[in-house]
Amino acid sequence: MVNYIASSSFVNANIRTIDKRKYNHAVFNGLRCLYCKKPLTILYTSSTGKVLTCSCFRYPYVDGILYLKRDSAASAAVKLIKQGEEDKILMTLIRPRFLLSIPIWLFLIKSIHIHFNYFLLLLRCFSYDWKWARYLTKRETDTSFILSMFCSKFIKSGDKVLDIGCGIGQLLPYYSTQTKAVYAIDNSPLSLLIARRFFADKKTILICSDIERGLPFRDGYLTITITTDVFQYLRRKFASLREVSRVLYNKGQLFIIHAISGKGVVYGNAHAIKTKSVDTMLKKLKFNTITIFPNSHDSFSVFAAKNNHTKNVWL
Ligand SMILES: [Zn+2]
Repeated sequence: MVNYIASSSFVNANIRTIDKRKYNHAVFNGLRCLYCKKPLTILYTSSTGKVLTCSCFRYPYVDGILYLKRDSAASAAVKLIKQGEEDKILMTLIRPRFLLSIPIWLFLIKSIHIHFNYFLLLLRCFSYDWKWARYLTKRETDTSFILSMFCSKFIKSGDKVLDIGCGIGQLLPYYSTQTKAVYAIDNSPLSLLIARRFFADKKTILICSDIERGLPFRDGYLTITITTDVFQYLRRKFASLREVSRVLYNKGQLFIIHAISGKGVVYGNAHAIKTKSVDTMLKKLKFNTITIFPNSHDSFSVFAAKNNHTKNVWL
C-alpha cells in the first residue's frame, strides 16, 4: 500500500504532459448511442476532432473527449469541428459561468503549464466550489481512493475497463497502467477536460454522458467496471446495476467502492442503500460471486462477478 501512495504523489506532480496526437481512436467500435441504441461510427474527421454518428444524432469528439448528449451544445460543437478551433469547441461544451470561464480560457492556452493543485486554487478564486476543490486536493489519502487503487491490481492486460463517474479522473492512471482499453464516464465536461489534461493518458477514452440514462456500450463489451464514491448518488440503483450487467461480458467483474449504507437520503443528494438490498439486486442480475464488506460504520464496498467466476479476489 505504501508503494501505491508513493506512486500516487508522483501522478499528482504531473503537469500537462499528455501527447494529444497519440490518442487511441480504435476503440469506438464498442460504443453505441444511448437513445437509438445503434453503433457509433465516425462520420467526419478534421484537424480539431471527429464527428460520430448513429441513426439519430451527431456527436462531437474533441481533445479525446466524446460528448454523448443530445443537446444544443453538441450540435454547435459539431459545426465548429468542421470549421476549426479546438478551444472554442471545448468552451461550447463546457458552457462555464462567466467568472469560471476566465481561468478555463487561461488553462486552454497550451503554452501555459500549471500544476494541478495551483489550477484548482485558480478555479476556486473564480467561483469554483471551494469545498469540492479541497476534497479533490486531498482525495488521494481517502480510504475509497486507496481501495480503488487496490482494485486496479486485478485488471489484466486484455481487460476493457470502465470507470463509472470518473470525475476529474484521478484514478485513471492506475487503471491504464494495467490495460490498453480504459473508458471513463462523467456528466461534467469540465471535469473531463481536467481529467484529460492531468490524469488520462492517450489510451483512455473520456465520455461525457449521464450514467442515469444508461451506459453507451454494446452488450457484453466490457470486462471490468469500477465506480468509486458514486453509487450513493444514483437515484435508480437497480436500473444502473442492470446496465452494468448488460455491458459486462459473461465473466465480467464489478467493483463498487464506498457506497453509503442505510435507508433514504442521508445528505444532499446522496441516497443510502442497505447492503442486503444490493445483494438481492446483484443476485437478480445473475451475479453469482458477491462480496460486500464494510468500509466504516455507514459505508461499504462490493465485489461482484458474473457466472462461473469462482475466484473471489477479497479472500
Ligand atoms: Zn442515436
